[in-house]
Order: sequence, then structure tokens, then C-alpha cells
Amino acid sequence: MKSKIMNYFNASKEEFSDWKWQYRHRIETVEELEKLIELSEAKKEDIKKALEVFPMAISPYYASLIDSKDHNCPIRIQAVPSSAELKKSSWELEDPLCEDKDSPSEESCITHRYPDRVLFLISNRCGMYCRHCTRKRRVGNREYDYPEKAIREGIEYIREHSEIRDVLLSGGDALLVSDEKLDWLLGELFDTPHVEIVRLGSRVPVTLPQRITPELCEILEKYPSVWLNTHFNHP
Ligand code: SF4
Repeated sequence: MKSKIMNYFNASKEEFSDWKWQYRHRIETVEELEKLIELSEAKKEDIKKALEVFPMAISPYYASLIDSKDHNCPIRIQAVPSSAELKKSSWELEDPLCEDKDSPSEESCITHRYPDRVLFLISNRCGMYCRHCTRKRRVGNREYDYPEKAIREGIEYIREHSEIRDVLLSGGDALLVSDEKLDWLLGELFDTPHVEIVRLGSRVPVTLPQRITPELCEILEKYPSVWLNTHFNHP
């Protein structure tokens, strides 16, 4: 499947290993997807319906892991939309973890539920939009792209709350900001005396592993206590 995808994009080995190339070439339409994996006419219509509400974006790398002929391939099911996503039961919530309720304001990037830790959203982008995401209301939605002002306000909030010792950077994907921005942000957070650890919430080790570059590792190594929280799904 990898060579099929590389041929489709006419990609060199260097390009395929470059996370920015991978990000720019994420598969976002049915027209692209049907050239890479088997899709019935009914499934194409089904995907289109789902795409009216929720975006699709599959990195070429992650697409290369899909069994193109198996319609129940577990990797395909995580990445390819289904109109079942549009069904909403009366008990379902748009914000299923009630994160917005524990945010200091509507515009804030912070969720502060437990006294000593905060969730700090810094990006609304991902290497691949997971169909099972619990933050679909924000992820991939341009309205929720966090401006620098909101990020600075998040840092200020953490500085003003000395009980916070643990910051979880997430999004979207915490590793889809630039190296420079991440370095700056980690510097600001570790410059705050009461911040002891920073966790990075990221699926790029799974969906866009090219993002883990030597340059990124050098940045992470500079800081005293950085943890990476990721998640793999497997049968
Ligand atoms: S990587 Fe995380 S935030 Fe992004 S779509 Fe998947 S589960 Fe949601």
C-alpha cells in the first residue's frame, strides 16, 4: 500500500519522510480516497454525508497502513467517516467530557477541573481526524484555531494559579504546532515556578510519526519533565 500511495502522490522517499509534506497531503475528499482504497458507491455517498458535518484528513502514512480491500479494516474504520457519526441520541452531548463547563471563559484554551492540573488546548489540527474523537466540536474546525492572544492568556491563567503543577498540552494535537512555538511555550511554562510537569497529548507517533524529528527531540530534551501521552488502537 505504501508504494501505491507514493506513486499516487508522485512522492520521493524524502518527501514521504517529511512531516510537513505528510500534513499538506492529507487525504480530505472522497475523490482522493477512492483512488487509494476500495469504496462501494453506497459507502462513497455515506462518507459524503458525514463530511458535511465532520472533516476527514488522513495522512498518506496512515492511509498506507489501511488494508485497501478489507472494508472492515480496523485502521480504515478509525480514519474513514461514516454517517453513523451523525446519529445523535437524546443522552449524547456535543462536549461529552464536559470540558467547556470547566473553562474560565468561552474563549479560553484552558479547562481547569482538578485543582493541580489543567488541560491547555493549543491547536485544533491533527495528523488524522479520528472518527472516535471526543473533541469533534473543535477539531478541524477553523473557528477553533487558537490565536496567540488566547495562548498567552492561557499562560497567564496558569501563572495566576499557584496550585497548578501539571499542564496537559493538547488540541487537536499538541505536536502540530511548529518547533519554535512549542519551544517558546515550554519555556514559558517551565519558567513558572509551580509548574512541575508538562504532558503532550499527541497521536502523531501513530498517525504522523515523521513529526518526531531529531530537532523536536532536542527541544523536548531541554526541559526537565515532559511526558508524552499517546494512544494506539489495535484489534
Ligand atoms: S488525534 Fe486526538 S484530538 Fe485529533 S482527532 Fe484524534 S482523538 Fe481527536
